[in-house]
Amino acid sequence: MRLVLLGPPGAGKGTQAERLSEGHKIARLSTGDMLRAAVSAGTPIGMKAKDIMARGELVSDPVVIAIIADRIKQPDAARGFILDGFPRTVAQAEALERLLAQRGLKLDAVVEIKVDESILINRIETRIAQMQARGEPVRADDKPEVLKQRLGAYRAQTAPLIDYYGKKGVLRTVDGMPPIDQVSVAIGRILTAAPRLSSPRRKPAARKAPRKPSRKAARKVAPKGRKSASKAGGVRRKARKGVRPARKAAAKGKARKTKRKQARRAGRRG
Ligand code: AMP
Repeated sequence: MRLVLLGPPGAGKGTQAERLSEGHKIARLSTGDMLRAAVSAGTPIGMKAKDIMARGELVSDPVVIAIIADRIKQPDAARGFILDGFPRTVAQAEALERLLAQRGLKLDAVVEIKVDESILINRIETRIAQMQARGEPVRADDKPEVLKQRLGAYRAQTAPLIDYYGKKGVLRTVDGMPPIDQVSVAIGRILTAAPRLSSPRRKPAARKAPRKPSRKAARKVAPKGRKSASKAGGVRRKARKGVRPARKAAAKGKARKTKRKQARRAGRRG
């Protein structure tokens, strides 16, 4: 299964992606995590991305496309993957489509997790508190002022993907406001139908031959003549087969009775 999770920062993409990855035993590919790893490792990509990420802006398309192009070739992505945070622009979506097409693949579904923007600040604050409680380092971009910038980037650059995937017929939307478990259930339902989502809708093939008549219809239309070799006649004969021996036997019995009667009468007369 190849799936994209779409939604603004704080919508719960990461949590749902993790659950799906565990449940379906497929890779979770988060460009945010990959970029943060690159920043921590101090790689050239990480050095380029560090300040952009801290400001809440998007890293350039060629950089993230190159990361994903390499990542989806890895063996752990062979069975499928969940893309979390990619694509974030139409150019990235087009590149993804090309990359998949080169391997004869396509997306099964794009799930948009829809949330009320007014709760996002709250969610991010909760996330910060939880991370601090676990003693984990807090993300540089998990600050209310940066969140505003990230939301702006989402609206301007990522939200157009809703229309993009909507037109392709692969977009499904879930309400991201209920508790996490409920959102997971809603996504699960969508994925049960996902393989069908990606197959192009075919027009029913034009019927070439007339439909075979039903047994009932065959009886109605079958010609009475025994010689007719039509299938309908065959069906009729088959249907009657079981009845005939009984009728024959009854007729024979009657004939015998009549003969006996005649013999008795003849005896009385003689
Ligand atoms: P995330 O963890 O998905 O919220 O991403 C954190 C940050 O990484 C974003 O705010 C961007 O700066 C950067 N980033 C992650 N994925 C992408 C992407 N697909 N395109 C551009 N920038 C990205």
